[in-house]
Parts: sequence; structure tokens; C-alpha cells
Amino acid sequence: MKLNKELFKDQFLEKLMTMHVKSLEETSNAERYRTLSSLVRDYISKKWIASDQHYQQEGSKQVYYLSIEFLIGRMLGMNLLNLGIYDLCKEALAELGISLDVLEKAEEDPGLGNGGLGRLAACYLDSMAAESLPGHGCSLRYRYGFFEQKIVNGYQVEVPDNWLDQGFPWEFKRSDQTVSVNFGGNIRVVSNDKLRYLHENYDTVFAVPYDVPILGYKNDTINTLRIWSAEASEENFICSTADMLDCVTSMEYTKTVESLSSVLYPDDSAYEGKVLRLKQHYFLVSASLQSIIKNYKQRALPLDHLADYIAIHINDTHPALAIPEMMRILIDVEEMGWDEAWKITVNIFSYTNHTVLPEALEKWPIDMIQNLLPRLYLIINEMNERFCHELWNRYPGDWDKIRSMAIISDHTIHMANLAIVGSHSVNGVAQIHTEILKTRVMNQFHQFYPTRFNNKTNGVAHRRWLLKINPRLSSLLNESIGSSWISHPCDLLKILKYADDHVFQEKLARIKRYNKSRLAEHIRDVQGIRIDVDSIFDSHIKRIHGYKRQTMNVFHIMHLYNLLRENPDLDIIPRTFIFGGKAAPGYHLAKQTIKLINTLATVINKDKSIRDKIKVVFIENYNVTMAELIIPATNVSEQIPTASQEACGTGNMKFMMNGAITIGTLDGANIEIRNVVGDNNIVFFGLTANEVLELHEHGGYNPWDVYNKDERIKTVLDQLINGFFPVGTDEFKSLFESFLYHNDQFFVLKDFASYADAQLRLDQQYRNRNQWLSMCVHNIAHSGKFSGDRTFTEYAMDVWNMNPTISPQCYCSNDDKFTSRLHGCAFTSKLQQTISSNNIHVPH
Ligand SMILES: *Cc1c(COP(=O)(O)O)cnc(C)c1O
Repeated sequence: MKLNKELFKDQFLEKLMTMHVKSLEETSNAERYRTLSSLVRDYISKKWIASDQHYQQEGSKQVYYLSIEFLIGRMLGMNLLNLGIYDLCKEALAELGISLDVLEKAEEDPGLGNGGLGRLAACYLDSMAAESLPGHGCSLRYRYGFFEQKIVNGYQVEVPDNWLDQGFPWEFKRSDQTVSVNFGGNIRVVSNDKLRYLHENYDTVFAVPYDVPILGYKNDTINTLRIWSAEASEENFICSTADMLDCVTSMEYTKTVESLSSVLYPDDSAYEGKVLRLKQHYFLVSASLQSIIKNYKQRALPLDHLADYIAIHINDTHPALAIPEMMRILIDVEEMGWDEAWKITVNIFSYTNHTVLPEALEKWPIDMIQNLLPRLYLIINEMNERFCHELWNRYPGDWDKIRSMAIISDHTIHMANLAIVGSHSVNGVAQIHTEILKTRVMNQFHQFYPTRFNNKTNGVAHRRWLLKINPRLSSLLNESIGSSWISHPCDLLKILKYADDHVFQEKLARIKRYNKSRLAEHIRDVQGIRIDVDSIFDSHIKRIHGYKRQTMNVFHIMHLYNLLRENPDLDIIPRTFIFGGKAAPGYHLAKQTIKLINTLATVINKDKSIRDKIKVVFIENYNVTMAELIIPATNVSEQIPTASQEACGTGNMKFMMNGAITIGTLDGANIEIRNVVGDNNIVFFGLTANEVLELHEHGGYNPWDVYNKDERIKTVLDQLINGFFPVGTDEFKSLFESFLYHNDQFFVLKDFASYADAQLRLDQQYRNRNQWLSMCVHNIAHSGKFSGDRTFTEYAMDVWNMNPTISPQCYCSNDDKFTSRLHGCAFTSKLQQTISSNNIHVPH
């Protein structure tokens, strides 16, 4: 029966009663939230089975996206939207006197991820389901997430993220599909008819899967995110009351096992922490691969065709052990020969690189892998020997080159090298990032495997980051250009015809103002800070890191504050600077930056003399939910990394979609945003990537020169240590020294003048209201290119060798190879159509 409001209300009340044995009036919002999610879970389960069966019958190729994190965000609202019953439920609940908004807020953010890499993985799950493609995620079920950030006296304090405390209604435990993962022990080689490797004396950990349904948009597709939880195996749990000592050992053991899926990115500054991370990685890949192969075998397909029916994508190198693990399964379990197994493995795997920061390129000491994963060590060794042999044939005698490309060198296993050698595709995440990989970081590999490298510029789930989080803007879009953009994001281009329409512009401005008032209320309620809704909301929200240059933003605010103290009448548009982000627990300078922002905020916000012209707010515990509140309320999006270091960025895309103007460096996707919106609709400044890389390689930058020449910088830097702030003079000393004594490695001082100029230009542009609003429209209109639907379709065709059954539509791809393969959808002709039927001017 089709769902209607009356039926829904009946079902809801019935469920409420059976779950909580209370009348409606007696239930809390948390209980109502759990009731509603349980009901939605019921709706989902039927469709889920059907979706699975459909894939089986179709014999479709399945993609598995392996990622150490999935930053999925709250699910209730998105699930209702995807089921197409959001409005129905909202109205029906309202008739019962319940606000759906309030129930949505009762949901905890799942602690399954931490930053851009995890959010990207979540966005692709959304897009794959929306396109009805069988794409599934595999990850770990972290009991305590990453951490919850508390700000105490201005400092970041990390407390466990207890997100599972009230249960997670969107997971389905599948105990029957538990697999075992083995660690340690030794390998015994036996040779009867053929060589066999027997793994003995190992410790077993049970991997219990929990499945989270991933819904497509109104299309009945439901894919799966499988997260694994570590449990102690029973045979190790001998605990009789007669022997208490046994009990204690058993409990200790259980604790050790459970620590495997306890937190994301455990502290790896000490040896034990490193081992724990390695264990987590192997646990994830071994459990996932075993279940993938088991599934495949149930389909009764021949093993030598594995690569035709499954593709496995590794999101950065954390899951790269999947490559040798696949070899282990094919050789030791399925009894294949090396050559055949290798061919299949390379065809199955593809790898995305996310960073060029050298400290983030993963490596493991040989003995750690040898002890923990003795069979994998042998396989990696064999991979290395064969690869070095190939290298020798190609570059005879060139030991330096061979050493730097080898999988194993200097007693270390280099995971990026392993991932490149074991995959048929390696991609960067923005054009410039892929260029840097090809020409610099991975240049030798690019020469060796010229066809293996490709670019896939990231994209974001526009159904969450626009449709869901900005309902008023979505309505305005629907009224103006229809709702086709929800499934075909490039149709957003149609609003270009309203770019200079003052009536449309004013509607847009009212929506922005409303979103700002919602954020202002939140900030007032939670932090007791009053901010001016008519000031420019300027947001810098992302992980706190040197290369993301929160410090540069802070220095500019300090400079503005200095100007205002001299001249309170200074003619600037009032601004509210909003920060948010977590610092890695062991990253001292990043934590100092948080303290600095908070200290600055206390000083500025209480200084009456500057007449509220600037305010500073640091939002505690930045996560998806906070991003959803901040992004639609933002006028200016700070995307100011040191050029060449932000591989892509996805925050920049979400802001653009919601009509914020980017102030940014020429890096990552900022460049591609500029390419579509044109120079007039974005504010650029700073060193280019090449300039930065040249300075890195050849030197020639001395931060003291800037300090001595630029009075603004000298004043601001001195203020860090001269008692200007109400903290000890040593508080910001290490930060101060990082700029002057440790050579300002992120070029903050170097770019400061250019940044301050750009901020002035922005202030001027904001004064021309119609021009500003027109810029906003241009940004929204062109954001369709940055939908995950586009990116993932490129992956599906170029990397995973699938034929997405996409309806003819425009994906705004600049990549000719891609468009020519998109049958029935020539980008240019479709764009031309949109343009000519709407009289749009498109900047180049
Ligand atoms: C999008 C997003 C990120 C990534 O932001 P960048 O600006 O690209 O670093 C990180 N965290 C959350 C919660 C996000 O939504």
C-alpha cells in the first residue's frame, strides 16, 4: 500500500507504543527519533532485499570502495528525502505536534570518519546509489570514533566520541557473516606435489559485520556500507569461575581485541600505536576481501573472471594491504599460480592518492609486518623482487632509481609504491594535484607506467550539500528552473539567466539572511556570542593544519583589529570570522592555533571600542552537522592553503553550491572553480604552486625579510609574544618561532600582503550589492560540475570499467575521452542546448 499521512501516523504511534511503552505525550525527542528511524528502517529493509536480488539477477559488476573512514553525517533526513517521503512525514508529524527538525537533531553524527577523505567516500556512496550502480563501502565500526573536541579555556581537549551510546539505528548486525582474521604466528612451507604456505600459531580475531543501507534518490536502489567490528574469538575466552586468573587474562585479551575497532587513527607516536594502526588496516582489508570473495562464490561465477565482476578501489594507502591479501587468498586458498593471481589482482584494484605531503606517505618497518603478518610479508617481498627485476631490465644499473621505486627499501615497506604497482589505475583528485603527481612526486612511476595515471576531480553529494541543507534555496531553484537539477546537477546552469535579475537576487539575499540568522541563533545559544546578521559571514572550517593556513587568516584579523583600534571609524563592512576544525591530538602547532583563535576571539569580542565591526567565533567540534549549518549561512569561503598542498578540497565546492564567494589560492579544485565561474566571480591571490615548489627546491625565501619590511606583519607577530594577549608570553612562542626560526614552511608571511589586498578587494565588491549577488548566482549555477555524480561516473567508466546506465544528461566534463564514451550525452551539445534555450552567457 502506498504510504499516506494517515497510515504513517498510525504506524508511527503504534511503533512508539511498542518500542517505549509510553503514550505520545510521555516520550522524549530522543525516543521519538528512535521510533521514527526504526519505522524508516522497516521501509528500507524490504527495498534492500529487492535491490540485492536485482543485482544478483543482473549479474552486475560490483564495486567495493575500501576506506579507513566514511564521514557520513546524520542519516534520518537524507533517508527520508531519498525515499521521497520527507514532506509527507514532516507534515504528518506536525499534525501530531512533533517537529521533524527537532527529531533530526536528536541523531548523533556517526563517528566513522574525520575529514575530507572520509567525507569524499561518503559522497561517492550517495552518488553511486543515486545512479543505481552497485557500489558498496567497506570500513571499520569505530566504537569511539575519532574524538569529540571540547574547548576548555581556549584549548582543544579530546574526549572519546561516544556516538554509539544510544545505539545506531541505521546498522544491521550480521553475526552469521562473521569472518576470522589472523595475526602473528609463523609460516611453514611444505612441498608435496606443490609448494604450500601454512600459517600456524596465529591469534584469531573475529570480524563481525554491521551493514548500513545507502539509499539512492527515489530509485529503489539500496547499496551497503559494511563496517567491521572486532570481537574476541570464543576459544580464547576461557573463563571459569574456578580460576580467576584465567578470567582476568581473558578479559585483558578481550580488551586488546576490541581496541582494534575502538578509535579512528589511534595515536601512533609510540611503537604500540603504530602496531595498532597496522592491525586495523589489515583487519579491514582481510575481513572485507574474505566477504567479497565469499559473496562472489555464491554467485557461482568462475574465479578466473573475478576482475570482470568486481572492482576494488582503495581510498588512499590505508587499505593498500588489500593487494597482497588478495594474492594470499588467490594463491593459498584458491590455489592459483602467481602469474594468474597477479593479473587478476592488478585488474581488480585501483588507487586514489590524496596527498603530496611527504609525512603523509605511509610506510611500515619491515619487522613490524614480518611479525604481525608473516604470510603477507612473503608476498610483498615476492612482489618487490619481481618488480625490481622489471625495473632492472628497463633501467639496468640505475640503482638509485630502482631503490626509490622499490616497494621495499631501507628496511621499510612503502605503501604508495605498493599501491601503484598493484593497481591498474592511479588517480589524483584535482587537475593540478594529478599534474604534480605525474611530474614530481610520482614522476618515475608515471614514466614507467604512463597510462596508469589519471585525474578524477573530487565532487560532493549535492543532494545533501544543497537540496537537504538549504531547503529555501532548493525551493527557489525549483520554482525558477524546475527540479531536474536534483538528478542532473548540471541543469543548475539554467539559473544563469537570472544572474542579473534583481527580483531573483533579492530572493537569494533573503534566503542567505535567513540561513545566517539560524547560525547566529545557534552561536548565541551555545556560546553566548551575539553576532550581527548583516555582517559578512566569513568561514574557515576544515581540519586545523599548517598548510591550510588558519594562521594567515588570524594574522589578517589581528591586523584589521590593529587598524580599528587606531581608527574606530575605519570604513570596512562589518565581518564575522567563523572558524571550526579539529587538530590532530599530537600536532602541537595546530593546537596552538586553536588556542590563538580563541584568545583572539575573547579579546576582540569584548572590545567595545571597535563597535562590533569584527567578531571572531570558534565553533566547537566541527563535524558534518556543523558544516550543514555553517555553509548555507556563509558569504565568504576561505580556501587559502599553501599552493600545491591541498590536493583538491571539497569544502570549497559545498560553499560554492550555496552561493558563497571563494577567497582562495590557486590550488586544488579552486583552480577548476575559477575555470568555470571566471575570474570575476572568485577572488584569487598568492603564490602559485610552481612558485611554491621552486622555493621549496631552490630556497630563496627568508621570512625575516617580510618581517623587517612589512610593518603590519612585524606588529602582528610581535603581538604573539609581547604580552598583547592575556596569556603568558611563552604561550604562543613556538608558533612565533615556526614562522621566523623554522622558515615559515607554509609561506604565510610571504603570502600575507597579497591576501590582505584580496580581502580589501572583497570588501569593495561586497558593497556593490547587485554585482555581489550576481557573483553568487554564477557560483551556484556552475557548481553542478562538482557534484559527486559527475566524478563517480568518470570512475565507473574510466577506472572500474562499468557501463553506467545513465540517462542522457550533462556531466559538464571537460575530459573529451570521458564525454565521447558517454553515449547519448555529448557534453557540448547538451550544454549548448541549455545555453541557447536560456540565452545564457557562459564565461570562459
Ligand atoms: C567537507 C568536509 C571536510 C573537508 O573540508 P576541506 O575544506 O576540503 O578540507 C572536512 N570535514 C567536514 C565535516 C566536511 O563536511
